[in-house]
Amino acid sequence: MADCIFCKIAAGEIPSTRVFEDERCLAFMDIGPISPGHTLLIPKAHYERIHEMPAREAAHLASHIPPLADAVRKAVGAEGINVLQNNGACSGQEVSHVHVHLIPRWPGDGLGFRWPAKKADPEVLKEQASAIAKALGE
Ligand code: 5GP
Ligand code: ZN
Repeated sequence: MADCIFCKIAAGEIPSTRVFEDERCLAFMDIGPISPGHTLLIPKAHYERIHEMPAREAAHLASHIPPLADAVRKAVGAEGINVLQNNGACSGQEVSHVHVHLIPRWPGDGLGFRWPAKKADPEVLKEQASAIAKALGE
């Protein structure tokens, strides 16, 4: 994709601090880390959102998450790690090329999500579950 910054990083056309790569994916340091060691994992091919990836490509990308998350956490001595993947501007996606954030965490680091949990209505949950199951079959 001509104007995509992560395609350019994947192609080596603009610099990045690389961690790991194979023929189909690349991990590199986030230029605006929200915690020390904040790393991104991308497919080298351009997909804007996760659902656009063929399952095989997504599976390949996902296969790198456990070892990479463990390595990032160990390398910076973090206690935990968030694995985050945003889709759509409303979710916080700023770069329109699929990427997985690996964000090291420490107790009291002040990061976090607003998580306004509500009490679920069991009937609504059933309706939503069947709508999701139906959509999965489409
Ligand atoms: P998003 O908000 O789209 O989920 O996350 C995009 C991430 O990409 C941000 O954390 C941002 O700091 C990072 N980023 C944006 N442009 C560049 C860049 O040119 N190089 C690197 N290494 N990271 C970038
Ligand atoms: Zn791209």
